[in-house]
Amino acid sequence: MAQVSELNLILLGPPGAGKGTQAERLRADFALAHISTGDMLRSQVADGTELGRQAKAYMDRGELVPDDVIVGMIVQRIEQDDAKDGFLLDGFPRNDSQAHALEQALQRQDRHLSAALLIDVPDEELVRRLSGRRVCVKNPAHIYQVELDPPKHEGVCDQDGARLIQRDDDREATIRRRLQVYHEQTAPLIGWYERAGLLRSFDGRRDPAEVHDHIRAALATLRLEEQL
Ligand code: AMP
Repeated sequence: MAQVSELNLILLGPPGAGKGTQAERLRADFALAHISTGDMLRSQVADGTELGRQAKAYMDRGELVPDDVIVGMIVQRIEQDDAKDGFLLDGFPRNDSQAHALEQALQRQDRHLSAALLIDVPDEELVRRLSGRRVCVKNPAHIYQVELDPPKHEGVCDQDGARLIQRDDDREATIRRRLQVYHEQTAPLIGWYERAGLLRSFDGRRDPAEVHDHIRAALATLRLEEQL
């Protein structure tokens, strides 16, 4: 019988497109390691590490943290036990050199990417969404949006009752800079993955549950194709 191969996925798309929300759902569906570089960096900042101290200055400005820091972190992370049967990268790669580094690391491990999932949303909508985004203090994967996906009780996480906060970089000036950085450095990767035959695109303006259904269906098809 054909062996079910590991699903190694990356989520592409601008900040606020819903990558984290979808990642959390897909993690549960397919038992994947959800690897968010943004969450990893924020946890270093919260722990007051040297890496966190250095990263914070870039994050607060909406700029990318230097590649050497990020690439080392990810290459180690995808080799850990929980990521051996499949991973979902959320927020990485974000530029050309990170995409190359990922490709090389996977080759060295005799692995390959299964797909690049693009969730796309126009800029005006992103600014509105990000300024209303709230995250759980206890688990940053629990994400809400005050208008589109509000918690049952204002300011409180539905899943664990912890307080909801606004991320420091979800303020309008920083949001605009993050979008600019996305268009200049990250969006060119879309063509790269398209040419590699790995791109699957989804309309991120739809309801999160609908986007989730579409991605799940695409991944189910992909799995079937891989087994053929
Ligand atoms: P995110 O939560 O993915 O929006 O990331 C928040 C911030 O963390 C970004 O604006 C960057 O400053 C930094 N960051 C996250 N992922 C990366 C990455 N792959 N490369 C460089 N910086 C990153």
